[in-house]
Amino acid sequence: MTLKELRKKSRQMLRDGNIDSPEADADLILMHVLELNKTELLTKDFVVPDALSIEVGGYLNRRLSGTPVQYIIGRTEFMSLEFVVNKDVLIPRADTEILVEAVISKLKAVKGPTKVLDIGAGSGCIGLSIANELADASVAELDFSEKALKVAMLNCERLSLKKRAEFICRDIAEVDAETEDWIPSDGFDCVVSNPPYIRTDDMLDLPKEIFEHEPISALDGGEDGLRFYRIITEKAPKLLKDGGILAYEVGYDQAESVAEIMRGGFEDIETVKDLAGIDRVVIGFKSKKD
Ligand code: GLN
Repeated sequence: MTLKELRKKSRQMLRDGNIDSPEADADLILMHVLELNKTELLTKDFVVPDALSIEVGGYLNRRLSGTPVQYIIGRTEFMSLEFVVNKDVLIPRADTEILVEAVISKLKAVKGPTKVLDIGAGSGCIGLSIANELADASVAELDFSEKALKVAMLNCERLSLKKRAEFICRDIAEVDAETEDWIPSDGFDCVVSNPPYIRTDDMLDLPKEIFEHEPISALDGGEDGLRFYRIITEKAPKLLKDGGILAYEVGYDQAESVAEIMRGGFEDIETVKDLAGIDRVVIGFKSKKD
């Protein structure tokens, strides 16, 4: 079969299987298996060896059975960077780029080198994109999952950020912010997190594709979805410098509740909307009086 024929057939298979974005997913699979970039995929034509057509078929079948395409090809794009992903980490979402951009713009206003703590690092997409953008920022990537941190470390290596990143395998709920030695004595400039924020009762309503494939621990935010905002906000003043930034991604209806949790320890609280006009990011600054 030629590439053009295989491409047509692959797209049709995913269309027939009612996959959400059949054309894009088929193209991602083809580019991955045949090691082509988008331009090559669109312009080249050649006879695809049978072994590779069969491999493409296997990948398409995994997609048809509901596995997200990012897990099938083992990578995704975030902030125009390529991140490795597997089932141990949440697939980075476009909404999270809003959080990263907001943090970058706040950190640009801080003089000198900055230290960022990314809580619930997963693939490392948040902290590593910030470090990639800001040459004098260093980042501590914290996650309770050793398997997730392995993915984050791999991404760090691929982005050549090893000198400016460290990895801490801890459950934030158990971190003693006063004594742990990875916490800089003068505090972090920024604590950023996209914590699990789905209400436990809503977990079963998640699309099957998410519920059956992505890590539950990266999604379940406890009874009211706010468990991790409470835990992190309570510890954050001890992790941050005076005036330090606390920045969260929040669920579609959580911005006001999260801002409320932050009041008291944080001031100048602001929200940033996502592309759908929903308050998606909440940012505050550690009150100087603390
Ligand atoms: N920080 C990672 C991300 O934004 C993981 C978030 C999570 O596991 N809740 O993709």
